[in-house]
Amino acid sequence: MSRVYNFSAGPACLPLKVLERAASEMTNYNDNGMSVMEMSHRSPVYEAIIAEAEQTLRKIMNIPENYKVLFLQGGATLQFAGIPMNLLNGSGKADYVISGQFSNNAYEEAKKYGDIKILASSKDENFSYIPQFKASDIRQDADYVHICQNNTIYGTVFKEIPDTGNIPLVSDVSSYILSEPIDVSKFGLLYAGAQKNIGPSGVTVVIVRDDLIGKARPSTPKVMDYKVQAENDSMINTPACYSIYIAMLVFKWIMEDIGGLETMQKINVNKAQILYDFIDNSKLYKSTVKKEFRSIMNVPFITGSEDLDNKFVKEAAKNGIVTIKGHRAVGGMRASIYNAMPVEGIKALVEFMKKFENENV
Ligand code: PMP
Repeated sequence: MSRVYNFSAGPACLPLKVLERAASEMTNYNDNGMSVMEMSHRSPVYEAIIAEAEQTLRKIMNIPENYKVLFLQGGATLQFAGIPMNLLNGSGKADYVISGQFSNNAYEEAKKYGDIKILASSKDENFSYIPQFKASDIRQDADYVHICQNNTIYGTVFKEIPDTGNIPLVSDVSSYILSEPIDVSKFGLLYAGAQKNIGPSGVTVVIVRDDLIGKARPSTPKVMDYKVQAENDSMINTPACYSIYIAMLVFKWIMEDIGGLETMQKINVNKAQILYDFIDNSKLYKSTVKKEFRSIMNVPFITGSEDLDNKFVKEAAKNGIVTIKGHRAVGGMRASIYNAMPVEGIKALVEFMKKFENENV
């Protein structure tokens, strides 16, 4: 079988160039006589890899000096607990925006640690839009406000960063990071599981402002304490060595091959536009998201008939278009079109959608 167009929401496709480079270095990294997987994380060779990962990420995201970059384990899900453990340290209150399943999971986890309020929710319309709130709705003594920037399942995105005044804004950017430039200085903390735009699962990136660390509750496990991890360059124990190495190659691909996040954004906007334009002009397919909140990373669409959706998914796979079944919470299809999905993949998808429409309408 040749390589397919993989529209998985995550783990998702990786840039072919990165995979080929990793393959060429698999058994003997940089003439060290061993794979990165076999190397001590305390060796100078590996220390150079993790340092390069951090430096390259800092460069492409333009991360200010007063932020720490951590490479942790446990996925974004562990950070649902790690965030309150580290940041819920003043009033013990935090306000959460519920814009989908993952922000709800984050809210449910945080409730174990303090007084958590729902600031706004779009549950009433199955999360097909981004709920709005005003800075004055936030409890003024809240330790932080939490949002999920891009909602992987529902295909919605915050187009504007909400104004939270002096209260630190925490954002789950798992399916958003590296898709376009982010003004990091507007956030107290950003976090992302890797398996969409960063690399393989196993590593979770946390970008946190200096003044927010060092106040974790005493029961916080050492591996979850941002201060301890920052002081130990994310190596309080063995990190996700190989995932971090691939992440480093992906960061370099964005910097050297793509030319940075402004260009990445242009490419992504163009890809998404091709797909949305086709859906909006089609007689068969419908977008499930209000136009102003549409994500450029995850594009759910339905035919309106479950049988036809199932047929679509089956026939698409025969045409090299795979993992395009929608999440059960939305149904239909979902094309996750992260950075590594080439525009050729979008064109192939649209061609198939056209053919399927002609045959089934
Ligand atoms: N947040 C978002 C936005 C996600 O899309 C996901 C996973 N798809 C998660 C959190 C959970 O991430 P993990 O599996 O890394 O814990």
